[in-house]
Formats: sequence, structure tokens, C-alpha cells
Amino acid sequence: MKGSKTFDVIVVGAGPGGAAAAKRCADRGLRTLLIEKKKLPRDKVCSGMIMGKWAGGIIEEEFGPIPAAVLTDPPQLTGHRFYVGAAPAQTLPWPTALSWRKDLDHWLVQGALRCGVVLRDGVRVAALAGGPGDLQITLQQAGPPETLRTRYLIGADGATSMVRRSIFPELKVRYSGPIRECYRGALQLDRNSFHWFFPKGLPRPRFNVNHKGDVFLIEGSGLRELRREIAAVLSPYGFDPDRQPLWKDGCTIALLHEPLLSGAFQPARNNVLLIGDAAGLILPITFEGIGSALRSGLLAAEAIARHFADARQAGTSYLESLGPLLEVIGELCQVQAQLQQGPADAARMAQALKKAYERTLTLQEE
Ligand SMILES: Cc1cc2nc3c(=O)[nH]c(=O)nc-3n(C[C@H](O)[C@H](O)[C@H](O)COP(=O)(O)OP(=O)(O)OC[C@H]3O[C@@H](n4cnc5c(N)ncnc54)[C@H](O)[C@@H]3O)c2cc1C
Repeated sequence: MKGSKTFDVIVVGAGPGGAAAAKRCADRGLRTLLIEKKKLPRDKVCSGMIMGKWAGGIIEEEFGPIPAAVLTDPPQLTGHRFYVGAAPAQTLPWPTALSWRKDLDHWLVQGALRCGVVLRDGVRVAALAGGPGDLQITLQQAGPPETLRTRYLIGADGATSMVRRSIFPELKVRYSGPIRECYRGALQLDRNSFHWFFPKGLPRPRFNVNHKGDVFLIEGSGLRELRREIAAVLSPYGFDPDRQPLWKDGCTIALLHEPLLSGAFQPARNNVLLIGDAAGLILPITFEGIGSALRSGLLAAEAIARHFADARQAGTSYLESLGPLLEVIGELCQVQAQLQQGPADAARMAQALKKAYERTLTLQEE
């Protein structure tokens, strides 16, 4: 392929999935462009925990040890605590590196750039056209729109993926909308632990609390409907429900496990491969998604590098390689469904939730 605007692979989205996929494509000698709609470094609503060897192992192997400047204060959580109703909290010791996503993702992208990836940030991919072997991408930016050509496209553009919407216009997607609130100061909760609260005695709705530097964060999908419970549960730890957060933001999770597991949605079509949140690969229960984005990004890059001459083959090969990840998702979906039915007793539920999180983290090591 010739010309400065023609690439072997274009990766849309510079989160962890996009950075890993782009880096591996460049490592394999492919001319790779990474496009990010926001100016980098950009933040993302996320707790920023690197959970288990699932994520940490890939980062270490592909990008090297995480520099101290990328981690927060505390840099490592000692574990997770689970609070169900009035039952005593359960503790799961689990060393977990903690970051602001702005810093983690920027560092990952720098690693990709060192391997020869070309970056365009502050530029949005607005449209796709063409077919196997020759795709045209329209970029929206300040100034006139621009068209680029590529042999392969990796959609790493997150939960509301425009790449997914373009190639699967018929797919109906359910979404949830977590909110994050950031407050100055600290609660009287161990700042070295991640705190998970289940005020209804069930896995969902839930909210969580953690400390980073001189702030604490409250996050969850049910913050609006749990407002009264949050006030009641957190007041004993020094939370003033009338206080305004320093800032508040939100994001979207695509709930795609059902169609993924039934095969109704297969996250690749010919020369377009979806990874991470764009593919709905976030894990049930913990909603860990950094590791699955990194992992699926590497799998997509490998499939493209292996089958560079044949777009259809790359898509099929990628889908096959996702099998073990889908098995993990299927197993965790079952655990989640069982938990959502009970038991009603808070102490037993706290134990069961701790086990489920432990199982999730252990599964991620396999
Ligand atoms: C509240 C909350 C807490 C979480 N906590 C954790 C946690 O502690 N640990 C964990 O492992 N996971 C966590 N997750 C999940 C994790 O945040 C995601 O699974 C992960 O970010 C997915 O990575 P990704 O690379 O697929 O996509 P993203 O990180 O979402 O990156 C997608 C990128 O694509 C860009 N983009 C979108 N559209 C376009 C376009 N048209 N053109 C160009 N660029 C585009 C976006 O700007 C974005 O930068 C959490 C999620 C939520 C909601």
C-alpha cells in the first residue's frame, strides 16, 4: 500500500485496548495509525485498578514495569472490603495497583509510539466505508474532513463504539450509566483498601469508595437511586451527604454479554475487529475491563499479523482466539445470576460476594 494516508492497520481509540493492539501491530512490522478523538492525556471514568495478573502481567510483559509516577497515592491497594447490610465487612487481601486512567493510558500510548505507531489525537473517526482489504475512514477535525485508507481496522473505541455501530447497525445494545463523584478529603475508611457496598443485599445495585491522593471517590451504576442508602451507609465514616463534590462525571457500559455468549454478536466482520469495551468484553461482577481490553487487543493484532493477506481469515481467527475469554465471561455471568437470586441473609451474602470477587480475580490469573 502506498501513500502517506494509507495504513496497514488503523486503530480507533487510545484506551488500554487500542494502545496494546497498535503496539503489537507495529511490533509485527505493520504500518499502524492510532486515532483518538480526545486530546491526550485524557481521563476516563474508571477506578483505575490493575486487577490481578490478568492485566498486570500483560502490562509488564508488553510495556515494562509501571513507573511510580503513573500510580496514585496509595500506589498499591492491599485488598478489597465487602459491606452487605449490617453484616460484618469481609476482607479480601489482594495487592492491586491503583492509577488515574489519564496517567495509565497516556503511558501505555507512549509505549506504543516508541514502537513506531503513528498517533492522531483530537480527531474523531466519523464514518467508515469500503470492504475487505480496502476501508476508507472519514476523520472529523478542525478544518475540512479527511479520508484515510487502511487494510484493517481495529475498533477500540469503547462502550458506545461508532465502529461497532457502523458494522453492526442491527445490533440492539443495552447500556448502563455509572456515575463518579470526587470529594476533597478522606473518609474514616482504610485508604489502602477498595470498599464495595451492597446496600440492597444483592450484587447490584452497588457503589464503591476509594481514596486517591487528597480526594475520595464514590462510583456506581446506581448512585441516583441509592442516594439515601449512600448517605446512611457512609455517614458513620464521616461523609456529609449535603456536601457538593469537587466534580462529578459519568460514562457508559455496553451490556453485551448475552449476545456475545449466544453468538448473536460476534465482534469482528471481515477486516474490522472489535476489542475491549467496543466488543462488550468487560468482565461480569467486578467490571474489570483493562485486562480484557489489553488481551483482546493483542489477540486482534496477532490475528491480523498472521493473516495479513486475507481479511476474512483474520476476523475468523480473532473470533476463535476469543474463546477462552468468552468462557471466563460465561462462567462469571452464571455466578452473578446465582448471587442475584439470594441468599437473603446479609452475612452469607457478604461471604458469597467476597468469594465471587476472589474467583473473578483468580480466574483472571489463568
Ligand atoms: C465506574 C467504572 C469503574 C471501572 N473500574 C475499573 C477498574 O478499576 N479496573 C478495570 O480493569 N476496569 C475498570 N472499569 C472498566 C474499564 O474502564 C474499561 O473496561 C476499559 O477502559 C476498556 O478499555 P478500552 O480500551 O476498550 O476502551 P476505553 O478505555 O473506553 O477507550 C476508548 C477510547 O476510544 C476513544 N473514542 C471513542 N470514539 C472514538 C471515535 N469515534 N474516534 C476516535 N476515538 C474514539 C475514546 O475517547 C477513548 O479514549 C471500570 C468501568 C467503570 C464504568
